[in-house]
Amino acid sequence: MHGGAARSRRYYAPDPRAEAEPRICDSPGCTAPGLFRAPKSRDALNQYWWFCLDHVRDYNRSWDYYRGMTPAQIEAELRRDATWQRPSWPLGRFGAFEDALADPLGVLTRPRPRPQPKRDEAPPALRRPLAVLGLDWPVAREDVKKRYKHLALAHHPDRHGGAPEAEEKLKEINAAYAALMRALRTAHE
Ligand SMILES: [Zn+2]
Repeated sequence: MHGGAARSRRYYAPDPRAEAEPRICDSPGCTAPGLFRAPKSRDALNQYWWFCLDHVRDYNRSWDYYRGMTPAQIEAELRRDATWQRPSWPLGRFGAFEDALADPLGVLTRPRPRPQPKRDEAPPALRRPLAVLGLDWPVAREDVKKRYKHLALAHHPDRHGGAPEAEEKLKEINAAYAALMRALRTAHE
């Protein structure tokens, strides 16, 4: 349960397949791009959730937080959350421990009322830019600017030790922003 191999592979990293279809963050209700991967559980280190920067940080914090706890302690911790979140398993149910490790954020056990993306209605040339920025169509210039600022900061290579992946991701974000602002300008003028 506490193998060193698991720990050393816990790091998160940007999607190495930059050309892959952009993902949406797996955290419930979050529509930001899912740019960072995190293993689903200690027993499935080659299966990943994909999160935005904020949520991969939450996830990693949770992962560390539950380390070394007994099943009873984990269940007690999860039940404390019931003040704002209805527990989705019966008390003492066998398997709660595995659920906690496999799903520390409750991604699987919480209902996921993710709003249906409207990207299909967007002009085809804008669908990928919208997905990269995690935006739905139609979108206002102000919202594009706001999201861009947030993502450009989060993915700035200076914040990632100059990692080339971060630089590539930032380029993709810049290109998506430029394409959207161009399209919105011609649409409104
Ligand atoms: Zn997120």
